[in-house]
Amino acid sequence: MVIAVDVDDTITNTYEYMLPLVAINYNLDLKKLWDNKPSYKELSKTLPNYKDFIQKNLHILANIVTVKKDAIKVLKRLRSEGHKIFIITARNTEEYSNPYQITYDYLISRDIPFDKLITNVGNKGLRCVSEGVDIFLDDNTKSCKSAMKYNIKTYQFKSNFCSPEDKIPRANSWEDFYNIISNLSHKTNN
Ligand SMILES: [Mg+2]
Repeated sequence: MVIAVDVDDTITNTYEYMLPLVAINYNLDLKKLWDNKPSYKELSKTLPNYKDFIQKNLHILANIVTVKKDAIKVLKRLRSEGHKIFIITARNTEEYSNPYQITYDYLISRDIPFDKLITNVGNKGLRCVSEGVDIFLDDNTKSCKSAMKYNIKTYQFKSNFCSPEDKIPRANSWEDFYNIISNLSHKTNN
C-alpha cells in the first residue's frame, strides 16, 4: 500500500518547539501558552508580524525539531514489509526559501525512510488521489477531512493541540498506527 505521511506534528515535534520560540520572540509566558494550546491558525491571527516571525524562524525550527517516538522504527518496518512511504507536506515557499530541500535534508539526516517527498501541497486529499495514496496519516483536522472526502483511508495523528474529531479515526501513537496498518494488511490478505 502507498502510505502518505505528514511531517509537522506527525513525524516531528514541531509544536513543542514552536511554542518556546513564540514565547521568546513575543515575550510571552510559556506556561500560559501551554495551558491555552493555541493552534497555528490562532497564533497567526493573534501575533503581530507573524509572517516575519515565520520567515525568520521556521527554517531554524525545521532543522532542530525532534522526531516523534517510534516514528522512524515504524516507518522502516512498514517499508520493509513492502509499503511505499510518501511524505506529503504543506510546507511552502511562503514559509521557507526551499521547503523541499530543507525537508529532504532533515529526513535524510534523521534516517527517516521515504520513497517520495512532496512539498507545497495545498489540497492534500486531491494530491493523495493523483499520487495513488491508499492510507493517509496527518495531525491536521482539515487535511484529514480533505483526504476523507476523496475516500482515502485516513487516520488523524494525536497531537498536543488538536482536539479529537469523532468522525476521523485516530492513531494515538506510531505503534498504534503500525498496529492499524498490520490489521488492515491482514484483512486484505485473508
Ligand atoms: Mg501537521
